Amino acid sequence: MNQPANRQWTLTARPQGLPKRSDFTYHTLPTPEPAEGEFLVRTHYVSLDPAMRGWMNDARSYIPPIKLGEVMRAGAVGEVTASHHPDYKPGDHVVGMFGMQDYAVSNGMGVQKVDASLAPLPLYLSALGMPGMTAYFGLLDVGAPEPGQTVVISAASGAVGALVGQIAKIKGCRTVGLAGGAEKCAYVKNELGFDAVIDYKNEDVGAALSQHCPKGIDVYFDNVGGEILDAALARLARHARVVICGAISQYNTTGQISGPRNYLSLLVQHARMEGFVVFDYAARYAEGAAAMAGWLRAGTLKSKEDIVDGLETFPETLLKLFSGENFGKLCIKSN
Ligand code: NAP
Repeated sequence: MNQPANRQWTLTARPQGLPKRSDFTYHTLPTPEPAEGEFLVRTHYVSLDPAMRGWMNDARSYIPPIKLGEVMRAGAVGEVTASHHPDYKPGDHVVGMFGMQDYAVSNGMGVQKVDASLAPLPLYLSALGMPGMTAYFGLLDVGAPEPGQTVVISAASGAVGALVGQIAKIKGCRTVGLAGGAEKCAYVKNELGFDAVIDYKNEDVGAALSQHCPKGIDVYFDNVGGEILDAALARLARHARVVICGAISQYNTTGQISGPRNYLSLLVQHARMEGFVVFDYAARYAEGAAAMAGWLRAGTLKSKEDIVDGLETFPETLLKLFSGENFGKLCIKSN
């Protein structure tokens, strides 16, 4: 039988600063065969996430680093094409950590079946997938916003941030987003319905936060860290919650990352700052997905995907996350 080829990206070197093409190797190998208890998945859309940058470092984290020579870790949605597993059959659509490749063998661990007739496949990497769960549980569980409170969100046009702001609006909050550039800012305000938006690349962030949050910030959902985190900390309301979801401004720093200078605001405002990892909520994903699906159906929530063609573009496509060139949930269409 003629085996289809499996194109895949492996990690060759640990990047210093921004990743470059030579940090990875692009292979074309025979497609693997699933053994007893395994199945083969053809990936259709592969997820590009800021967290990938951290996984490339040989550093202590919430999951082990990718080893040199290993397939680049990545979430993906695809279709089962062969199976020796009792619970999966050819034609099933599945989401899992299938890696930056055309074909992956799985034993089902960490894999979820999805219904391709209910939503387009990329949505399962977006509002109905990991970013959606991050937004839902990060905002509602960690941020715990109350109606009428002011919620500030950085990277507000992105996969997670756009959803956080919309959920906060659904919950009756005032929302203030930060995004880079006029086009993204117009989208955040006019399409997503945020109450105010700050173009952090062209405005004085501190002054704009003071203007749009006259009673202080009740919830700051931080995706970027660095100076924007500091500006938000300086403007907290009493009993504020700072949700540390990510710190993309620091992921490619070669020296020390810059920590918050204004942390004493937590003391003065009786506030708290808490980090979280979406995987902690795996047991509750069904609840989060049902809520997100309901809002999508009702038209109160929008999901935007930025789909780039071609697995071969991976190293350059990844960089879009750090330059802000992505507009929506960044995915690669692998075939
Ligand atoms: P995304 O927002 O779709 O894309 C990244 C965006 O970050 C870019 O489009 C860019 O938007 C902005 N950005 C890049 N460099 C920046 C900088 N130096 N300063 C300010 N903004 C910058 O990505 P995402 O997948 O939704 O992830 C957002 C954050 O959530 C990341 O920090 C990620 O690590 C985190 N995250 C955490 C969890 C968790 O479990 N804790 C899960 C998923 C994601 P602009 O054009 O507006 O600059």
